[in-house]
Amino acid sequence: MKVDNKVTAKLNEQEKQELYKNARAKAWYDGIWQTVGKCVFCDLRDKYIIHEEHGIVLTVNIYPYIDGQMLAVPRNHIKSPKELTERQWETMRKFSYIAKKLIRKTHGHKGMWSLLREGGINAQMSVSDHLHMQFIPFDNSDLATWNYRELKHTPLENAGLYKENFKVIQKNAIKFDEKYSSGQLLNLITDCIFKNEKGEALLIKRCEDHKIEGYDYCFPGGHLDHVDQGVFGSLFDEMKEEVNYSIKEESVKLLDSRLSKITYLNDSKYLGVEMKNSENVLWNIYYYDKVVNSSEFKAGDDADSLYWIKEDEVDKFKGISKETKEILHKFFSL
Ligand SMILES: [Zn+2]
Repeated sequence: MKVDNKVTAKLNEQEKQELYKNARAKAWYDGIWQTVGKCVFCDLRDKYIIHEEHGIVLTVNIYPYIDGQMLAVPRNHIKSPKELTERQWETMRKFSYIAKKLIRKTHGHKGMWSLLREGGINAQMSVSDHLHMQFIPFDNSDLATWNYRELKHTPLENAGLYKENFKVIQKNAIKFDEKYSSGQLLNLITDCIFKNEKGEALLIKRCEDHKIEGYDYCFPGGHLDHVDQGVFGSLFDEMKEEVNYSIKEESVKLLDSRLSKITYLNDSKYLGVEMKNSENVLWNIYYYDKVVNSSEFKAGDDADSLYWIKEDEVDKFKGISKETKEILHKFFSL
């Protein structure tokens, strides 16, 4: 039987799943990938995705060699590991850790092959020249040969089995961040505190999808995304986006600087559960040395609303961390 994309287009979902399942063992795969005509990794289907962080997707393979095979794929079309950012590379490493635990729990294989597929010259042999990493279950000797075997499950069933094991993903995502994440990755966060005409300091209420563990309020600010824009440039953009205020460089002064660890809470779109992520940060807190007019500020971007806090509210205020309280006291005592 010759199978190409004209054939698969006519099939219903169950027939497609059966075809995908047997595509390798029945040698249909060649006909399929040669007629795809687009980059499949730029066009991933949500139903097969297990997890996603920092622009890297963990998904089941639609044409696996073996049940349980997974892929880590960057969302952007890049061809070489040298184009990955530090954070993307760290996430690929994290996903290989999670994949191995998932495979063991779900399919009982203790070993795993990781195969990094690059674009460019090797792309002739593959469905796309979009960089990806294959995670292939492996341990006993019969799996050591590259033979295609008939599978027990369709791709959708394989995705379903992994999603049922979301606790393994949740637990090991946190464990990786805590134990194996590279300490070299230190992000810079720049925040700025303002004082208004009543002597109150500005806090923002964070949006739902930017929740920090336990705390609803923080100072306006955020990550330095591009080193080229410099600390002031980054701070200027953040203030413009979050509180709609244009700061002047000569009024920005450093108040405090500390190493900190932040844990974020995100609802996983794919698993339907809450996922935690932590990161190490150098947290620079600046203050604006001019009294500002609070009517000129407006919540935007990931700020849900603004809150101007009085000095005597700080200690009993529920939505801020202990460190934020210390910094507010330092600011009020200037
Ligand atoms: Zn692509």
